[in-house]
Amino acid sequence: MDHMITVQNLTKRYESFTAVDDISFTLSPGTVTGFLGPNGAGKSTAMRIMTGLTPPTSGTATILGKPYAELPNPGRQVGVLLDASAQHAGRTGREVLALGAMVMGLGKARVDEMLDLVGLTPDEARRRLGHYSLGMRQRLGIAPALLGDPEVLVLDEPANGLDPQGIHWMRGLLKGFAEQGGTVLLSSHLLHEVEVVADQLILIGRGRIVRQGSKAELLAGSGTTANALDRDALVMALQHAGLAADVTPSGSVRSSATTEEVSRAALDAGLVLTELRGADGAGLEEMFLQLTSSDSREGAVA
Ligand code: ADP
Repeated sequence: MDHMITVQNLTKRYESFTAVDDISFTLSPGTVTGFLGPNGAGKSTAMRIMTGLTPPTSGTATILGKPYAELPNPGRQVGVLLDASAQHAGRTGREVLALGAMVMGLGKARVDEMLDLVGLTPDEARRRLGHYSLGMRQRLGIAPALLGDPEVLVLDEPANGLDPQGIHWMRGLLKGFAEQGGTVLLSSHLLHEVEVVADQLILIGRGRIVRQGSKAELLAGSGTTANALDRDALVMALQHAGLAADVTPSGSVRSSATTEEVSRAALDAGLVLTELRGADGAGLEEMFLQLTSSDSREGAVA
């Protein structure tokens, strides 16, 4: 099978509001794909459709060649984490996993294995979820998804609430999963959270995919990001030198010229640079910031 997940022209409308707008992508085995976009972009809605919890308005989503609902034993094929805090607060960590194991026809040994994998001690596993820290709940949250030893993982913001150590742990786990041939779709509203672990990136804003491709491809931006004590003077100096320049949402100056050209233009104008670097990745970062800021503007008006 070439594609583990295939999403084709998927659209979801709530009355006149389009939450997911004609998105298409495919995921290959052995890859981690970061599904990135600001809050409200449509990531969860798309993932809920992919895992059979919400019907699409139009379009299709298949996992291992079938709609999720038609998978014979979904838990053993697809591990899903949509809302790590959705578990009943009165259950213990062990009970959550034991229930999942029962549904999938797995033994108690697998439960212990999973507790060990997500780093919960036997003592912690006996505590009720209501008494767990957010980080513990997140770590436990991914365990049911892994329980059935699936080929595909669909994880919605699994790193939300994890401390840096937890994020590091999660990255290792997902990388290892993909290295063994697994396929991971991982959503986040933070570019840097998934940038390290993802091979592929899909950027979504207001329900639409704005960029997708391999991380290497998307990060290989050209041009220069710079700043000066007097930023406006830098913009003018660059334009004067015939170099394109504009101010990014984060307040830096971006130009398609090389770092050397930008530096010379600044020198000629007698300006002190406070920032000068090749843009690698900055294009993606800026695009992401733009997505975020245009969405928050919309939010402010609404
Ligand atoms: P994300 O996961 O990227 O934060 P969501 O998929 O949760 O985004 O939401 C996308 C948009 O769809 C949001 O504006 C949200 O308010 C809207 N939305 C989600 N579910 C519903 C629903 N059941 N009814 C109406 N609007 C919804």
